[in-house]
Amino acid sequence: MVIVGGGVIGLTCAYQLAREGWQVSVWDRGALGQEASWAGAGIIPPGRVEGATSCWDRLRAIGATSFPHHADELRELTGIDIGYRRCGGLEFLPAATAAEVTRLWAAEGIPFEAWPAEQCQRREPAVVPPPDRTVWYLPGCAQVRNPWLLRALIAGCERRGVVLQPYQEVVALAGRPPRAEGIMLADGRRVLAERILLTAGAWTDGLLHRSQGQGVGIYPVRGQIVLLRTTPGLLQRIVIVDKCYLVPRGDGHLLIGSTEEPEAGFAKGTTAGAVASLLAFAAALVPRLAQAELVKCWSGLRPGSRDGWPVIGPLPGWDNVWIAAGHFRAGIQLSLGTAQVIAEAWGGRTPCVSLAEIGGQRRPSDGPRAFRS
Ligand SMILES: Cc1cc2nc3c(=O)[nH]c(=O)nc-3n(C[C@H](O)[C@H](O)[C@H](O)COP(=O)(O)OP(=O)(O)OC[C@H]3O[C@@H](n4cnc5c(N)ncnc54)[C@H](O)[C@@H]3O)c2cc1C
Repeated sequence: MVIVGGGVIGLTCAYQLAREGWQVSVWDRGALGQEASWAGAGIIPPGRVEGATSCWDRLRAIGATSFPHHADELRELTGIDIGYRRCGGLEFLPAATAAEVTRLWAAEGIPFEAWPAEQCQRREPAVVPPPDRTVWYLPGCAQVRNPWLLRALIAGCERRGVVLQPYQEVVALAGRPPRAEGIMLADGRRVLAERILLTAGAWTDGLLHRSQGQGVGIYPVRGQIVLLRTTPGLLQRIVIVDKCYLVPRGDGHLLIGSTEEPEAGFAKGTTAGAVASLLAFAAALVPRLAQAELVKCWSGLRPGSRDGWPVIGPLPGWDNVWIAAGHFRAGIQLSLGTAQVIAEAWGGRTPCVSLAEIGGQRRPSDGPRAFRS
């Protein structure tokens, strides 16, 4: 079977399917694992599978609970550490929304604590909490180092016999609905396949338009990140304020993220205005960061979708084409759940979430969200 797109979604699906005995090849138009999956911050919010009520909560919770084992398994198989660390997180919530968000956490059974200002000052002394915010500590919040995760997935796929095909652009599906014969490459070659999984991130709709004249509503949403180097331990926990966050790595690097810029289209790149606002956000929250070394900035194109959740399942109109794309702000944390659903469905088992709820023909999900990143 063929997977189109070698980001975290395509590679995790390939890794999981190869473990179950599938013969898999992954095709990417560039180097593997260099797009949104490389650019992201690697926040893995907590979750509890038994307490999850929505399909998305369940997929997040599968990630939250399976990442420690995934990290161990990849390290044993490849020798590569993915930087999984249960560092904990602080969410700074406006009082008006705190009640609703913490009710969702409590209902799922996610441990959390309200931190009064003195406790925040004692436990994270470098942080100056924004005014009018309540402070919530989530001990289960974790992180991975994205480039390390991708390196490990690539090596893990190789060890499991996945055929990796970087620098091979797929232009369209070959054949007509309801049956794809395979994929068409930009150099005119046709690769035959019994089954195809489309995981081309923000570029998935382009492929769909060229193959069937219409997409499923996936589009790019640029996100910029600034990387600083500071004293290790200056900040212990991930700090989240609305859509922005600080992610301290164990070695003193610290990520400041991120913007949401759908208007940038497919243009990657960083802008003075966005970098200035991310730096201002960081320095207001942790004033000592104003003295930190500025290492670099970058951007990635998140695969946005109609409701901010991915489209996972059979592609309507085709018997042998599936899609797993549109993971927007949550592709790392949802990667293991996504791969599990595909492997279960293709293996003839009942998927852990209903395909009708996560497929392209669902009603858009507009319920409240336990986490933004
Ligand atoms: C700044 C930023 C911060 C983020 N932070 C987090 C976070 O903290 N936690 C979290 O869970 N998620 C986070 N995300 C979201 C997460 O990174 C994405 O949801 C995830 O990476 C999407 O993975 P993907 O494999 O679908 O896409 P990608 O990683 O973009 O991979 C798609 C692949 O498809 C390939 N491709 C495209 N077109 C073709 C073609 N025609 N032929 C062949 N190959 C093709 C591309 O080259 C690419 O390698 C963040 C994203 C950004 C940008």
